[in-house]
Amino acid sequence: MKQIYFDHNSTTPLDPRVLDAMLPYLKDNYGNASSVHSVGQSARAGLEQSREKLASLLGCRPDELYFTSGATESNNIAIKGVAEALAHKGRHIVTTKTEHQAVLEPCKYLEKHDYEVTYLDADSQGYVDADQLSSSIRPDTILVSIIMANNETGTLQDIAALAKVANERSVYFHTDAVQALGKMPVNLHELGVNLASGSAHKFYGPKGVGFLFAKVGTRFLPHTHGGAHERGKRGGTENVAGAVGMAAALEYSIAELDTVTNHAAILSDKLTRGILATIPDSHLHGDPQRGNQGTMFFTFPGADGEAIILSLDMAGIAVSSGSACTSGATEPSHVLVAMGVPPHEASSAIRFSLGKDHTIEEIDYLLATLPPIVERLRKMSPQYVAK
Ligand SMILES: *Cc1c(COP(=O)(O)O)cnc(C)c1O
Repeated sequence: MKQIYFDHNSTTPLDPRVLDAMLPYLKDNYGNASSVHSVGQSARAGLEQSREKLASLLGCRPDELYFTSGATESNNIAIKGVAEALAHKGRHIVTTKTEHQAVLEPCKYLEKHDYEVTYLDADSQGYVDADQLSSSIRPDTILVSIIMANNETGTLQDIAALAKVANERSVYFHTDAVQALGKMPVNLHELGVNLASGSAHKFYGPKGVGFLFAKVGTRFLPHTHGGAHERGKRGGTENVAGAVGMAAALEYSIAELDTVTNHAAILSDKLTRGILATIPDSHLHGDPQRGNQGTMFFTFPGADGEAIILSLDMAGIAVSSGSACTSGATEPSHVLVAMGVPPHEASSAIRFSLGKDHTIEEIDYLLATLPPIVERLRKMSPQYVAK
Protein backbone atom coordinates (compact mmCIF):
# COMPACT_ATOMS: atom_id res chain seq x y z
CA MET A 1 0.00 0.00 0.00
CA LYS A 2 1.23 3.46 -0.89
CA GLN A 3 1.59 5.65 2.19
CA ILE A 4 -0.57 8.75 2.41
CA TYR A 5 1.94 11.39 3.32
CA PHE A 6 0.74 14.17 5.64
CA ASP A 7 4.22 15.27 6.75
CA HIS A 8 5.23 17.91 4.20
CA ASN A 9 6.68 20.24 6.86
CA SER A 10 9.35 17.58 7.51
CA THR A 11 10.19 17.24 3.86
CA THR A 12 8.52 17.11 0.44
CA PRO A 13 9.07 14.74 -2.49
CA LEU A 14 11.22 16.03 -5.34
CA ASP A 15 9.03 17.46 -8.11
CA PRO A 16 9.82 15.39 -11.26
CA ARG A 17 10.14 18.64 -13.27
CA VAL A 18 12.79 19.79 -10.80
CA LEU A 19 14.68 16.55 -11.27
CA ASP A 20 14.59 17.15 -15.04
CA ALA A 21 16.06 20.62 -14.52
CA MET A 22 18.83 19.16 -12.35
CA LEU A 23 19.83 16.18 -14.48
CA PRO A 24 22.00 18.06 -17.01
CA TYR A 25 24.08 19.36 -14.07
CA LEU A 26 24.48 15.86 -12.65
CA LYS A 27 25.46 14.36 -16.01
CA ASP A 28 27.14 16.51 -18.67
CA ASN A 29 27.63 19.76 -16.79
CA TYR A 30 29.64 18.20 -13.99
CA GLY A 31 32.28 20.92 -13.85
CA ASN A 32 33.57 22.63 -10.73
CA ALA A 33 32.04 26.11 -10.82
CA SER A 34 35.35 27.56 -9.64
CA SER A 35 37.36 26.16 -12.57
CA VAL A 36 38.58 28.54 -15.25
CA HIS A 37 38.06 26.17 -18.19
CA SER A 38 34.84 25.95 -20.12
CA VAL A 39 33.65 22.79 -18.33
CA GLY A 40 33.77 24.75 -15.11
CA GLN A 41 32.31 27.85 -16.64
CA SER A 42 29.18 26.10 -17.87
CA ALA A 43 28.59 24.89 -14.29
CA ARG A 44 29.25 28.45 -13.09
CA ALA A 45 26.63 29.71 -15.53
CA GLY A 46 24.02 27.30 -14.12
CA LEU A 47 24.88 28.39 -10.58
CA GLU A 48 24.66 32.09 -11.31
CA GLN A 49 21.47 31.78 -13.37
CA SER A 50 19.92 30.00 -10.40
CA ARG A 51 21.04 32.76 -8.06
CA GLU A 52 19.48 35.36 -10.37
CA LYS A 53 16.24 33.43 -10.67
CA LEU A 54 16.00 33.03 -6.90
CA ALA A 55 16.77 36.71 -6.35
CA SER A 56 13.98 37.80 -8.68
CA LEU A 57 11.54 35.37 -7.00
CA LEU A 58 12.54 36.56 -3.53
CA GLY A 59 12.74 40.30 -4.17
CA CYS A 60 16.43 40.73 -3.46
CA ARG A 61 19.75 41.08 -5.29
CA PRO A 62 21.64 38.02 -6.54
CA ASP A 63 24.72 39.04 -4.57
CA GLU A 64 22.66 38.93 -1.38
CA LEU A 65 22.13 35.15 -1.71
CA TYR A 66 24.65 32.59 -0.43
CA PHE A 67 24.13 28.93 -1.27
CA THR A 68 24.40 26.58 1.70
CA SER A 69 23.67 22.93 2.49
CA GLY A 70 20.26 23.81 3.92
CA ALA A 71 18.50 25.94 6.47
CA THR A 72 20.27 24.42 9.47
CA GLU A 73 23.54 25.69 8.07
CA SER A 74 22.01 29.03 7.04
CA ASN A 75 20.64 29.58 10.56
CA ASN A 76 24.00 28.68 12.06
CA ILE A 77 25.87 31.09 9.79
CA ALA A 78 23.36 33.87 10.43
CA ILE A 79 23.37 33.54 14.21
CA LYS A 80 26.96 32.58 14.95
CA GLY A 81 28.32 34.62 12.04
CA VAL A 82 26.68 37.84 13.26
CA ALA A 83 27.53 37.06 16.88
CA GLU A 84 31.22 36.80 16.00
CA ALA A 85 31.25 39.77 13.66
CA LEU A 86 29.56 42.08 16.17
CA ALA A 87 31.00 40.77 19.46
CA HIS A 88 32.76 44.11 19.95
CA LYS A 89 29.36 45.86 19.90
CA GLY A 90 27.58 43.50 22.26
CA ARG A 91 26.87 39.89 23.14
CA HIS A 92 23.09 39.82 23.52
CA ILE A 93 20.68 38.03 21.16
CA VAL A 94 16.87 37.94 21.20
CA THR A 95 14.89 35.01 19.86
CA THR A 96 11.68 33.17 20.77
CA LYS A 97 10.69 30.02 22.63
CA THR A 98 8.97 28.68 19.51
CA GLU A 99 11.95 28.55 17.13
CA HIS A 100 13.12 25.49 15.22
CA GLN A 101 16.02 23.59 16.84
CA ALA A 102 18.27 24.95 14.08
CA VAL A 103 17.91 28.38 15.73
CA LEU A 104 17.65 27.30 19.38
CA GLU A 105 20.77 25.14 19.28
CA PRO A 106 23.14 27.79 17.83
CA CYS A 107 21.74 30.15 20.48
CA LYS A 108 22.45 27.61 23.23
CA TYR A 109 25.94 27.17 21.82
CA LEU A 110 26.52 30.91 22.04
CA GLU A 111 25.27 30.95 25.65
CA LYS A 112 28.12 28.58 26.46
CA HIS A 113 30.49 31.09 24.89
CA ASP A 114 29.61 34.14 26.97
CA TYR A 115 26.72 35.43 24.92
CA GLU A 116 23.35 36.11 26.52
CA VAL A 117 20.10 35.06 24.85
CA THR A 118 16.57 36.27 25.65
CA TYR A 119 13.81 33.85 24.62
CA LEU A 120 10.54 35.70 24.01
CA ASP A 121 7.24 34.14 25.10
CA ALA A 122 4.47 33.26 22.68
CA ASP A 123 0.75 33.78 23.27
CA SER A 124 -1.77 30.94 23.07
CA GLN A 125 -1.79 31.14 19.25
CA GLY A 126 2.00 31.26 19.01
CA TYR A 127 2.46 34.98 18.32
CA VAL A 128 5.25 37.04 19.82
CA ASP A 129 4.48 40.57 20.90
CA ALA A 130 6.19 43.56 19.24
CA ASP A 131 6.17 45.50 22.53
CA GLN A 132 7.78 42.62 24.37
CA LEU A 133 10.40 42.48 21.62
CA SER A 134 10.98 46.20 21.91
CA SER A 135 11.51 46.06 25.67
CA SER A 136 13.88 43.11 25.35
CA ILE A 137 16.30 45.06 23.14
CA ARG A 138 19.26 46.50 25.05
CA PRO A 139 22.26 48.62 24.06
CA ASP A 140 24.31 45.41 23.72
CA THR A 141 21.72 43.56 21.57
CA ILE A 142 23.20 42.60 18.21
CA LEU A 143 20.63 40.27 16.65
CA VAL A 144 16.95 39.33 16.75
CA SER A 145 15.95 35.98 15.21
CA ILE A 146 12.26 35.12 14.80
CA ILE A 147 10.75 32.31 12.76
CA MET A 148 8.37 33.43 9.99
CA ALA A 149 5.91 30.51 9.70
CA ASN A 150 6.14 28.03 12.54
CA ASN A 151 6.94 24.50 11.39
CA GLU A 152 4.73 22.89 14.04
CA THR A 153 1.69 25.19 14.18
CA GLY A 154 1.86 27.17 10.94
CA THR A 155 1.53 30.41 12.95
CA LEU A 156 2.66 33.25 10.71
CA GLN A 157 4.44 36.08 12.54
CA ASP A 158 4.16 39.66 11.31
CA ILE A 159 7.82 39.71 10.35
CA ALA A 160 7.69 43.15 8.72
CA ALA A 161 6.43 44.72 11.97
CA LEU A 162 8.89 42.83 14.16
CA ALA A 163 11.84 43.60 11.86
CA LYS A 164 10.90 47.28 12.01
CA VAL A 165 11.21 47.22 15.81
CA ALA A 166 14.74 45.85 15.51
CA ASN A 167 15.74 48.12 12.63
CA GLU A 168 14.63 51.23 14.50
CA ARG A 169 17.10 50.28 17.21
CA SER A 170 19.84 49.46 14.65
CA VAL A 171 19.72 45.76 15.52
CA TYR A 172 20.01 43.08 12.84
CA PHE A 173 16.93 40.94 12.20
CA HIS A 174 17.09 37.33 10.98
CA THR A 175 14.12 35.15 10.08
CA ASP A 176 13.95 31.41 9.51
CA ALA A 177 11.64 31.62 6.49
CA VAL A 178 11.73 27.90 5.61
CA GLN A 179 8.04 27.16 6.11
CA ALA A 180 6.84 30.32 4.37
CA LEU A 181 8.84 29.97 1.15
CA GLY A 182 6.93 28.47 -1.73
CA LYS A 183 3.68 28.71 0.28
CA MET A 184 3.14 32.47 0.04
CA PRO A 185 4.77 35.39 -1.74
CA VAL A 186 7.91 36.46 0.16
CA ASN A 187 9.66 39.69 -0.76
CA LEU A 188 12.80 39.95 1.34
CA HIS A 189 13.48 43.64 0.75
CA GLU A 190 9.89 44.55 1.58
CA LEU A 191 10.02 42.46 4.74
CA GLY A 192 12.92 44.60 5.91
CA VAL A 193 14.99 41.74 7.31
CA ASN A 194 18.79 41.68 7.26
CA LEU A 195 19.06 37.91 7.07
CA ALA A 196 16.77 35.04 6.06
CA SER A 197 17.16 31.27 5.73
CA GLY A 198 15.56 28.93 3.20
CA SER A 199 15.74 25.24 2.31
CA ALA A 200 14.91 23.62 -1.04
CA HIS A 201 13.53 20.30 0.24
CA LYS A 202 10.63 22.05 1.97
CA PHE A 203 9.23 23.25 -1.39
CA TYR A 204 9.66 20.16 -3.62
CA GLY A 205 13.35 20.76 -4.30
CA PRO A 206 16.30 18.49 -3.47
CA LYS A 207 17.67 17.85 0.02
CA GLY A 208 21.06 19.24 1.00
CA VAL A 209 20.75 22.71 -0.51
CA GLY A 210 19.48 25.98 0.89
CA PHE A 211 20.35 29.63 0.99
CA LEU A 212 21.17 32.43 3.33
CA PHE A 213 19.97 35.89 2.35
CA ALA A 214 22.09 38.68 3.79
CA LYS A 215 21.21 42.23 2.83
CA VAL A 216 24.07 44.19 1.30
CA GLY A 217 26.29 45.53 4.06
CA THR A 218 25.16 43.02 6.71
CA ARG A 219 28.22 41.91 8.64
CA PHE A 220 28.72 38.24 9.44
CA LEU A 221 31.76 35.99 9.59
CA PRO A 222 31.95 32.73 7.64
CA HIS A 223 32.09 29.53 9.63
CA THR A 224 33.20 27.13 6.91
CA HIS A 225 36.72 28.19 6.02
CA GLY A 226 38.12 26.98 2.74
CA GLY A 227 38.18 28.42 -0.73
CA ALA A 228 36.75 31.77 -1.73
CA HIS A 229 33.40 30.23 -2.75
CA GLU A 230 30.23 32.27 -2.21
CA ARG A 231 32.26 35.45 -1.95
CA GLY A 232 34.34 34.07 0.89
CA LYS A 233 31.31 33.43 3.11
CA ARG A 234 30.94 29.69 2.62
CA GLY A 235 33.90 27.61 1.49
CA GLY A 236 33.33 24.39 -0.41
CA THR A 237 32.65 23.35 -4.00
CA GLU A 238 29.19 24.56 -4.89
CA ASN A 239 26.29 22.13 -5.22
CA VAL A 240 25.40 23.33 -8.72
CA ALA A 241 22.67 20.76 -9.45
CA GLY A 242 21.19 21.50 -6.03
CA ALA A 243 21.11 25.24 -6.66
CA VAL A 244 19.54 24.69 -10.09
CA GLY A 245 16.95 22.43 -8.47
CA MET A 246 16.20 24.92 -5.70
CA ALA A 247 15.61 27.75 -8.18
CA ALA A 248 13.39 25.57 -10.40
CA ALA A 249 11.43 24.32 -7.38
CA LEU A 250 10.73 27.82 -6.08
CA GLU A 251 9.75 28.99 -9.54
CA TYR A 252 7.19 26.16 -9.90
CA SER A 253 5.88 26.69 -6.37
CA ILE A 254 5.30 30.38 -6.93
CA ALA A 255 3.77 29.88 -10.38
CA GLU A 256 1.26 27.43 -8.86
CA LEU A 257 0.75 29.28 -5.60
CA ASP A 258 -2.91 30.25 -6.05
CA THR A 259 -4.10 26.81 -7.15
CA VAL A 260 -2.13 25.02 -4.44
CA THR A 261 -3.20 27.45 -1.71
CA ASN A 262 -6.89 27.15 -2.59
CA HIS A 263 -6.67 23.37 -2.71
CA ALA A 264 -4.82 23.26 0.64
CA ALA A 265 -7.41 25.57 2.22
CA ILE A 266 -10.30 23.34 1.16
CA LEU A 267 -8.62 20.15 2.36
CA SER A 268 -7.39 21.76 5.60
CA ASP A 269 -10.87 22.97 6.36
CA LYS A 270 -12.35 19.54 5.77
CA LEU A 271 -9.71 17.83 7.87
CA THR A 272 -10.03 20.32 10.74
CA ARG A 273 -13.82 20.25 10.87
CA GLY A 274 -13.84 16.48 10.55
CA ILE A 275 -11.44 15.93 13.44
CA LEU A 276 -13.15 18.42 15.73
CA ALA A 277 -16.56 16.88 14.93
CA THR A 278 -15.62 13.23 15.33
CA ILE A 279 -13.01 13.22 18.10
CA PRO A 280 -14.25 14.62 21.41
CA ASP A 281 -11.75 16.68 23.42
CA SER A 282 -9.54 17.37 20.39
CA HIS A 283 -7.80 20.74 20.15
CA LEU A 284 -6.35 22.66 17.23
CA HIS A 285 -3.37 24.90 18.08
CA GLY A 286 -2.12 27.96 16.24
CA ASP A 287 -4.23 30.56 14.47
CA PRO A 288 -6.86 29.01 12.18
CA GLN A 289 -8.03 32.50 11.12
CA ARG A 290 -4.80 33.51 9.47
CA GLY A 291 -4.02 30.80 6.97
CA ASN A 292 -2.06 27.88 8.35
CA GLN A 293 -0.50 26.96 4.96
CA GLY A 294 -1.81 23.42 5.25
CA THR A 295 -0.36 22.86 8.73
CA MET A 296 -2.67 21.58 11.47
CA PHE A 297 -1.34 20.83 14.93
CA PHE A 298 -3.78 18.94 17.13
CA THR A 299 -3.69 17.52 20.61
CA PHE A 300 -5.77 14.54 21.69
CA PRO A 301 -5.40 14.48 25.50
CA GLY A 302 -5.17 10.98 26.91
CA ALA A 303 -3.75 9.42 23.74
CA ASP A 304 0.03 9.24 23.40
CA GLY A 305 1.33 11.08 20.31
CA GLU A 306 3.96 8.50 19.43
CA ALA A 307 1.39 5.71 19.71
CA ILE A 308 -0.97 7.59 17.35
CA ILE A 309 1.87 8.01 14.83
CA LEU A 310 2.67 4.28 14.89
CA SER A 311 -1.00 3.27 14.61
CA LEU A 312 -1.57 5.63 11.68
CA ASP A 313 1.62 4.38 10.04
CA MET A 314 0.30 0.82 10.17
CA ALA A 315 -2.86 2.10 8.50
CA GLY A 316 -0.76 3.68 5.73
CA ILE A 317 -0.76 7.30 6.93
CA ALA A 318 2.41 9.28 7.70
CA VAL A 319 2.14 12.11 10.25
CA SER A 320 4.46 13.62 12.82
CA SER A 321 4.43 14.80 16.41
CA GLY A 322 5.97 18.14 15.40
CA SER A 323 9.52 18.82 14.41
CA ALA A 324 11.14 15.73 12.86
CA CYS A 325 14.35 16.83 14.52
CA THR A 326 12.92 16.30 18.00
CA SER A 327 10.77 13.24 17.37
CA GLY A 328 12.27 10.04 18.61
CA ALA A 329 12.92 11.94 21.80
CA THR A 330 10.02 11.74 24.25
CA GLU A 331 10.08 15.46 25.06
CA PRO A 332 6.74 17.15 24.44
CA SER A 333 6.71 19.89 21.80
CA HIS A 334 8.53 22.97 23.13
CA VAL A 335 6.36 25.09 20.85
CA LEU A 336 3.12 23.93 22.46
CA VAL A 337 4.59 24.25 25.95
CA ALA A 338 5.62 27.85 25.11
CA MET A 339 2.01 28.48 24.01
CA GLY A 340 0.80 27.41 27.45
CA VAL A 341 -0.29 23.85 26.67
CA PRO A 342 0.36 21.60 29.70
CA PRO A 343 3.18 19.09 28.98
CA HIS A 344 0.91 16.05 29.49
CA GLU A 345 -1.44 17.40 26.79
CA ALA A 346 1.47 18.43 24.53
CA SER A 347 2.65 14.81 24.52
CA SER A 348 -0.54 13.88 22.63
CA ALA A 349 0.27 16.25 19.75
CA ILE A 350 -0.03 15.28 16.09
CA ARG A 351 0.88 17.51 13.17
CA PHE A 352 -0.78 17.10 9.80
CA SER A 353 1.08 19.02 7.09
CA LEU A 354 -0.51 18.81 3.68
CA GLY A 355 1.11 18.90 0.27
CA LYS A 356 -0.04 19.94 -3.16
CA ASP A 357 -1.18 16.57 -4.48
CA HIS A 358 -3.67 15.34 -1.89
CA THR A 359 -7.18 14.21 -2.76
CA ILE A 360 -10.45 14.53 -0.85
CA GLU A 361 -10.47 10.72 -0.63
CA GLU A 362 -7.21 10.80 1.31
CA ILE A 363 -8.70 13.21 3.82
CA ASP A 364 -11.79 10.98 4.09
CA TYR A 365 -9.58 7.97 4.74
CA LEU A 366 -7.73 9.84 7.49
CA LEU A 367 -11.03 10.94 9.04
CA ALA A 368 -12.27 7.36 9.04
CA THR A 369 -9.02 5.95 10.46
CA LEU A 370 -8.04 8.39 13.20
CA PRO A 371 -11.06 8.49 15.58
CA PRO A 372 -11.04 4.78 16.50
CA ILE A 373 -7.26 4.95 17.08
CA VAL A 374 -7.60 7.86 19.51
CA GLU A 375 -10.51 6.14 21.24
CA ARG A 376 -8.59 2.90 21.67
CA LEU A 377 -5.50 4.65 23.03
CA ARG A 378 -7.57 6.69 25.47
CA LYS A 379 -9.18 3.52 26.81
CA MET A 380 -5.69 2.20 27.51
CA SER A 381 -4.76 5.35 29.42
CA PRO A 382 -5.55 4.88 33.12
CA GLN A 383 -5.56 8.62 33.92
CA TYR A 384 -7.81 9.74 31.08
CA VAL A 385 -11.36 10.68 32.00
CA ALA A 386 -13.53 10.87 28.88
CA LYS A 387 -15.13 14.23 28.17
C1 LIG B 1 13.22 21.91 8.03
C2 LIG B 1 13.46 23.17 8.77
C3 LIG B 1 14.77 23.62 9.01
C4 LIG B 1 15.99 22.81 8.67
O1 LIG B 1 16.22 22.82 7.30
P1 LIG B 1 17.29 21.81 6.65
O2 LIG B 1 17.47 22.33 5.27
O3 LIG B 1 16.66 20.47 6.69
O4 LIG B 1 18.54 21.91 7.46
C5 LIG B 1 14.93 24.82 9.66
N1 LIG B 1 13.87 25.56 10.04
C6 LIG B 1 12.60 25.17 9.81
C7 LIG B 1 11.48 26.04 10.23
C8 LIG B 1 12.36 23.97 9.16
O5 LIG B 1 11.10 23.58 8.97
